[in-house]
Amino acid sequence: MSKILVVGAGLYGAVCAHELTARGHDVRVIEMRNHIGGNCYTRFSDEAGCHEHVYGAHIFHTNSQRIWDYVNRFAAFNHYVNRVKVRHGEALYSFPINLFTLYQVFGVRTPDEARARLAAEREPISEPANLEEYCLSLVGRRIYELFIEGYTAKQWNHHPRELSADIIKRIPIRFTFDDNYFNDRWQGIPIGGYTAIFEKLLDGIPLELGIDFDADRDFWLSRADFVIYTGSLDSFFGYTDGPLEYRSLRFEREILDTPDFQGNAVVNYTERSVPFTRILEHKHFDLATGGERTLITREYPDDWAPGKIPYYPVHTPQTLARLDRYRARARALDGKVHFGGRLGEFRYYDMHQVIGAALAWLDKFSD
Ligand code: UDP
Repeated sequence: MSKILVVGAGLYGAVCAHELTARGHDVRVIEMRNHIGGNCYTRFSDEAGCHEHVYGAHIFHTNSQRIWDYVNRFAAFNHYVNRVKVRHGEALYSFPINLFTLYQVFGVRTPDEARARLAAEREPISEPANLEEYCLSLVGRRIYELFIEGYTAKQWNHHPRELSADIIKRIPIRFTFDDNYFNDRWQGIPIGGYTAIFEKLLDGIPLELGIDFDADRDFWLSRADFVIYTGSLDSFFGYTDGPLEYRSLRFEREILDTPDFQGNAVVNYTERSVPFTRILEHKHFDLATGGERTLITREYPDDWAPGKIPYYPVHTPQTLARLDRYRARARALDGKVHFGGRLGEFRYYDMHQVIGAALAWLDKFSD
């Protein structure tokens, strides 16, 4: 039995804490914020009668039987399917790009017409070198400018020419009327909110909130045989090699005196001139239909600086070079500290990928 300290009560930390406790280790969790759940944290809004996704939309989806079975041990899921709408100017569009979107933009009505139209729209770029070229070669300029260019530039604070196409490859393009945002077999929102999952994962495990590990690193390292660190890699090392780049978010929440503001959980605003990227209407995540009032959140991309919440890792050539140096430092601590999760690995993970990574690491971890 080892004394294991888990730093961070988000998904990676909570899964590790739960599993290692089950294996008989003496596990303790510390968390910088005053709540568990990391950015998955939800709380019930009495005013709106639904759960609030406090740090932005979290929709669980996976293609992995193992991950789906795992998460279902801690929650029952509703049948929410993410069907995003796009607002551009006065117009509304179906999204992700599907046959109905192509009908709205080009007037094409069948898969054959849509394929032929996109073939004519595509720009002949044989080896796309960035996100812009990737989109132009796949869907052409009209679709790129309507849906991608403005949204991506404000989301990442980099022009799509400076970004890797990997960011967008997660979003499907379809020649059917299927407007499901994800291709995965399983999808839903936990009934009762995400926080309840963390309460179950961490049940009975000593937990302290409001503790900043990085402020007292050597003290905490001396108190455990092994540390699982899920904060930011660069923060752990005191930003010695310079900060990695992140994108932060700012949320503006509003309770409205109307039962339904937008008729959908997520509406993306893809124009560059609109400062937010999307409006969430939380009751739709819960498939709630009642109530006189509704809660909406406008999501604004924001610059990150040390001290602000890092939401998205930004992969640019400069950050990747720094990342190599931090990873070398992390390897030197192998056997004493394990770095995991979106921040610990500096990877743009979804929730299911975080669980998958934690379970894979736990498979290899020898007690
Ligand atoms: N994206 C876009 N227009 C949209 C939605 C997404 O250009 O209306 C691009 C954008 O670059 C974004 C990426 O696709 O960062 C991934 O989108 P997703 O919705 O998966 O992002 P997340 O929910 O993780 O913020």
